[in-house]
Amino acid sequence: MMDKVDKTDKPQIKGWCPGAWRPMATGDGLLVRVRPRLGRLTRGQMLALCAAAETYGSGLIELTSRANLQLRGVSDASWPGLMEALVEQGLVDPDPQVERRPQRLLAPDWQAGDATHETACLLEARLNELPALPDKMGIAIDAGEAPRLGDVSADLRIERAASGGLQARASGNLQARALGGLLVRADGRALGTPVDSPAAAVEELIRLAHWFVASGGREAGRMRRHTAPLPPWAPAVTPPAEPGARLALGEHARGRVVGLAFGRASAAALRAAVAPDSVSAVRVTPWRRLLLEGEGASGAAIAGLLDDDRDPRLAMQACPGAPHCEQASVETLALAERLSGRVAGSVHVSGCAKGCACQQPTDLCLTGRNGRFDLIKGGRADGVPLATGLTESDVIEHLEKNSDALRL
Ligand code: SF4
Repeated sequence: MMDKVDKTDKPQIKGWCPGAWRPMATGDGLLVRVRPRLGRLTRGQMLALCAAAETYGSGLIELTSRANLQLRGVSDASWPGLMEALVEQGLVDPDPQVERRPQRLLAPDWQAGDATHETACLLEARLNELPALPDKMGIAIDAGEAPRLGDVSADLRIERAASGGLQARASGNLQARALGGLLVRADGRALGTPVDSPAAAVEELIRLAHWFVASGGREAGRMRRHTAPLPPWAPAVTPPAEPGARLALGEHARGRVVGLAFGRASAAALRAAVAPDSVSAVRVTPWRRLLLEGEGASGAAIAGLLDDDRDPRLAMQACPGAPHCEQASVETLALAERLSGRVAGSVHVSGCAKGCACQQPTDLCLTGRNGRFDLIKGGRADGVPLATGLTESDVIEHLEKNSDALRL
């Protein structure tokens, strides 16, 4: 029986690392982030999330670089209703403290009973043994044949060791011996500590988390920045296996992988993706890709979703802009579409100087102001513009005339 969300509840708005119980206030309302358990939503949960995005938010659903799903454009007034729906669907835990625990990110192609799945389940059962860690800290569980999450933000990693690691020889597990065993690696260190089972990996990870806190890691905030030498019981001696590729768009052994332009899709497009009864679930990835599970996932292209790995929109940044965000005086997505494939470097199209979609400088940034665009080169959305007051056509024309660094 879920807890009722009090309609008079006010969201606890924080300016960093938002969740569902602690949404972030942005220019287009509250941003509510959902962390699917084991990185997987059932078809019913996905449909419910689509309905919630349309009922309580802007109707857009975003997929983050840590494989979370987020809804934007939620108002203070609609947040309690949204939370009630999310809790009822099992997309958010009724206990707000649960989402304070470090995020767990799983290699998305895990199978029931394999090392990634087993390790993740063992860790779920012991989460309350972890110390309180800084908000942004995360755990990558990446124990498939080849680690896939090495370039994804995480602080503690459980990975497959290079074949022939110490633990592979010690392990009685035939699969582990064939693949190489497991290791636990503190982010920022090239080598990890070999362990001989998923249970031992979880034990070692919990110990390392306590060491992080006891050795002053909270001040550093992230494991990578914490330069204290590792304790003698966690020797960094074993390299991870050679990294594997991210999931390719298209057919997959468990269904089909689809891409999200600019890391975002409409609820309508995602509803269409899971419409066939034979699509049983959706797995999230940190690469703007969703894995649709089930035979019914294969087939014709789905409007609003990508199926070509070379599509530049998989890498471009664009905030929702007008009409989705009240702060925007321009439409961002139309210009982003026009620029797709026509610019050699990184691109960010922002509805205003807040730059919600990207806080890093990009080769080309276009920022909306008073219904026109400012053009910034090598900067952020709030950077000093090279040209101002541009319409969409002016932007294209400007780039054509100044194509030194831009392929047009
Ligand atoms: S950057 Fe985009 S989403 Fe953020 S407040 Fe401005 S217009 Fe809205």
